Amino acid sequence: MSFKEILGQEKAVALLKGAFLRGRASHAYIFVGPAGVGKSKAAISFAKLLVCPASRQAEPCDACPSCRKADAANHPDIQVLSPDGQFIRIDAVREACRRLSLKGFESSTKVLIISDGAALNDESSNALLKTLEEPAPDTVIIILATSLKAMVPTIVSRCQRIVFSSLQESVIFEVLRRDHGVGEDEAFYLSRISEGCMEAALRFHQEKVFMQRNRLAAAWMKGEVGLLGSQGRGASPKKESRQETEMALYLLAGWLRDILVAKISAEKKYFINADRIDDIMHLSRKLNPEVLEGALKLVAQTTADLKANVNMRLALARLNSELQKIA
Ligand SMILES: [Zn+2]
Repeated sequence: MSFKEILGQEKAVALLKGAFLRGRASHAYIFVGPAGVGKSKAAISFAKLLVCPASRQAEPCDACPSCRKADAANHPDIQVLSPDGQFIRIDAVREACRRLSLKGFESSTKVLIISDGAALNDESSNALLKTLEEPAPDTVIIILATSLKAMVPTIVSRCQRIVFSSLQESVIFEVLRRDHGVGEDEAFYLSRISEGCMEAALRFHQEKVFMQRNRLAAAWMKGEVGLLGSQGRGASPKKESRQETEMALYLLAGWLRDILVAKISAEKKYFINADRIDDIMHLSRKLNPEVLEGALKLVAQTTADLKANVNMRLALARLNSELQKIA
């Protein structure tokens, strides 16, 4: 693990490296930004840098015993605190802070990474607060958070904020291609639907969302304009498939949107399903925009209904009967 592996967060990484080079690392940081954009990688890389005895130009050496232990998550001077259930327990915070106050085992610097700031409840936040107010020398606490709103304000105010942004589609595309061997069309599609979140892109890859989209496209080209071709159309999906159904609705929304976009532009860059632009253009010429718009609204409504736990069968039946008007 090193800073080089973190893509699309140049500003955040530059701030951390700059502080290290000036010997001015803060005693407490909050890394805030969406899930799956590199906060955790950055925290580990920074911790590794802080304890590496052979770092060069703000990069850990990646070869010394310290770096190897950090990579294997068993460096005695790097603690990682994660929630036990919903919250991080107060005694776990107390123990972590006690260890921070001791002399380092191998390094003079000691690091505590808290993997989810929102999991600090009032009690555990209070326990942490004492250490934040009177930090022991050579200690760095890094709290990861997707939002500051869910955190106790007194904690937030005592930490330096490092903002991590959503990833650019081109970065997600590149990582999928380079690190995960994903095909070009799939990588492009996933980069478009994952909304700047690498974690989501990888999950979609694992769940074979692209294949699902291909089935959807094939069904529509055959005139089967259901939710997924096979699924829906009066079917009674099982309870556990609610998540799958939400995914199917998400893909369908993107599909309908593209057919509507094709009414005004044929430029590839405007499409989510750019690899299927010929199919999209064909459908766009065939289908009535008002009916498409109505269907798109109903897809949004059905998605909201599912989240609100309404009867899924009824909601899908209504959607499918509406979709039949498209054909
Ligand atoms: Zn090293």
